[in-house]
Amino acid sequence: MPLQVFARLRPLNGKEEEGGTTCLQVIGNAVEYSAGHQQYPSAFLFDGVLQGQQEDVFKASGIPLVEHCLAGYNACILAYGQTGSGKTHTMMGQLDSETERGLAPRVFEILFSRLREDKDQEASYSCLCSFLEIYNEQVIDLLNPSTPLLRVKEDPLDQGFYVAQLQEEEVHSVEEVMNLLRRGAQNRRTAETHQNRASSRSHSIFSFTLTKTRRVNDHQVSVTRSQMKLVDLAGSERGANEVGIIQKEANFINLSLTTFGRVVTEIVEAQHHGGMGHTHIPYRDSVLTKLLKSSLEGNAKAQIIANVSPAASCGSETLSTLQFAQRAK
Ligand code: ADP
Ligand code: MG
Repeated sequence: MPLQVFARLRPLNGKEEEGGTTCLQVIGNAVEYSAGHQQYPSAFLFDGVLQGQQEDVFKASGIPLVEHCLAGYNACILAYGQTGSGKTHTMMGQLDSETERGLAPRVFEILFSRLREDKDQEASYSCLCSFLEIYNEQVIDLLNPSTPLLRVKEDPLDQGFYVAQLQEEEVHSVEEVMNLLRRGAQNRRTAETHQNRASSRSHSIFSFTLTKTRRVNDHQVSVTRSQMKLVDLAGSERGANEVGIIQKEANFINLSLTTFGRVVTEIVEAQHHGGMGHTHIPYRDSVLTKLLKSSLEGNAKAQIIANVSPAASCGSETLSTLQFAQRAK
């Protein structure tokens, strides 16, 4: 399973600029990290380092995955990094701004335009979307938040792990997808206020399932199904010193993110040894990794975008994000 890893550096924000120092230097596809006391910087190599605008990020990361999804395979983009590093900006951005919109609006715009361009008379498409949040190892339906807690089940034959009774909505245009993204984001904010929790402690997964039905002859059709998943992970900062975090939340964030890290390490190991072979990949150990399994194995392609701030004041979290991302290489 080809796993690609990008680093995305956001610009210093107003507050950070006052102090002025940065801990990162970009050299080609490498990021060098240096803390003041270090004699030599540590270097981390990526498939790409993204410092530019939203459109540049889309060209480097989004477009190839759209092609993969249209070819009938699963594709997935995950945003990793500490709170405030730019994960949501990267994945969603400002949905209504031509320049500041993130990956989601651009990915679906090109997807729908490619579907419209398909002149194959025998092919028809259907598109289903779902939007969920994982908080304290529980699944919340962001399109239908009043449903009681949802269960992750396993279908041994066909679809692997799935969320029973998760709402799936059919969409026919990029506008309809945008409406679902807005609705989900709004529901996430409402739940945050009412239940006093921070979205930085939950993972969100937006899934788009494309089914292509093609008439082969008078008696046969072929059906191809592929999925595009966009994942905004919980902040990677670890609980102990964080203000207001309760231990249970810290444990659960750790469980999902550390399991994700272990899964990635095992996949990369297996790749280096020529195929998955007999390796045990611990997908079952967290809800997040169960739901990502179909996006990480077989012919699927996944990308991790490691978001970092260049500010020296974020140094230790930035180093830990770079180290995490390095494990995926
Ligand atoms: P996260 O989701 O990781 O907590 P956000 O995406 O909310 O972080 O980003 C934090 C702030 O920084 C937001 O105000 C966002 O608009 C801004 N920001 C993040 N990345 C960039 C970028 N590449 N360029 C400009 N502003 C950015
Ligand atoms: Mg965010």
